[in-house]
Amino acid sequence: MKYVCVSGGVISGIGKGVLASSTGMLLKTLGLRVTSIKIDPYLNIDAGTMSPLEHGECYVLNDGGEVDLDLGNYERYLGISLSRQNNITTGKIYSNVIQRERKGDYLGKTVQVVPHITDTIQNWIERVAKIPVDNSGIEPDVCIIELGGTVGDIESAPFVEALRQFQFRVGRENFALIHVSLVPVVNGEQKTKPTQAAIRELRSLGLYPDMIACRCKSKLVSHTISKISMFCHVGPEQVLAVHTVSSTYHVPLILKDEKLLEFLNSRLHFDDLNIPPEMA
Ligand code: ADP
Repeated sequence: MKYVCVSGGVISGIGKGVLASSTGMLLKTLGLRVTSIKIDPYLNIDAGTMSPLEHGECYVLNDGGEVDLDLGNYERYLGISLSRQNNITTGKIYSNVIQRERKGDYLGKTVQVVPHITDTIQNWIERVAKIPVDNSGIEPDVCIIELGGTVGDIESAPFVEALRQFQFRVGRENFALIHVSLVPVVNGEQKTKPTQAAIRELRSLGLYPDMIACRCKSKLVSHTISKISMFCHVGPEQVLAVHTVSSTYHVPLILKDEKLLEFLNSRLHFDDLNIPPEMA
């Protein structure tokens, strides 16, 4: 199983969901079976009790799960059917740990965020990633994990720590991270400082970006790409320019032109997965 994690910095609503589902769609074109997990770091068990005015539509899955609307993007972009387990919330994780504490599963132990919450998050991801999401009944090859919110927020800290540990649990060749950042345009100039600060924050928490996806209202100019590459300690091929488009269904094409697949393949070696030639 390969994992592609999508996180975000600078502001919320930056386009992580669209980028994550577009990445999944491109991976599907390689013949890979793709599933996805959305992490929402709020304390609600699910989106069913949240105001659509505040949070957007509540998406209802086939199993009745009331979840974040990003799960709808995944189902539409990837042609898959997800379950309520594909949406992890802080509420679900804490509820699970507290129920087990009451049953006596941790008898004698002090139950803590690290390792009990972080282990539960990792075990949940590993278990749910294996659940078939199409009619074939076959285990998926790749799991896209979208971490909602903004890295550095107090709410997402246990998830960031769990993902930091997770990269070692599954091995470097099986885990890649795309961090979505914002490049604002001020007086006609594309500004890289917010991205530099977001990447510093990410690295300080032990997560290193394999790709930095830069949301900008205009196409990134080469000077901006070089600057992000230099100040964020990544190669220019690791800077993905994702400008604002009239329809989000254009985003997979942008990512294709930006050679996302080539980079992910060189980083994760999808050939290890032994995809039957007729699928590839
Ligand atoms: P997040 O997951 O970071 O909260 P979303 O993926 O839900 O963000 O996107 C937030 C909003 O921005 C959505 O309305 C989405 O349609 C829009 N959006 C995302 N990427 C682009 C893009 N490249 N061009 C235009 N609109 C976009």
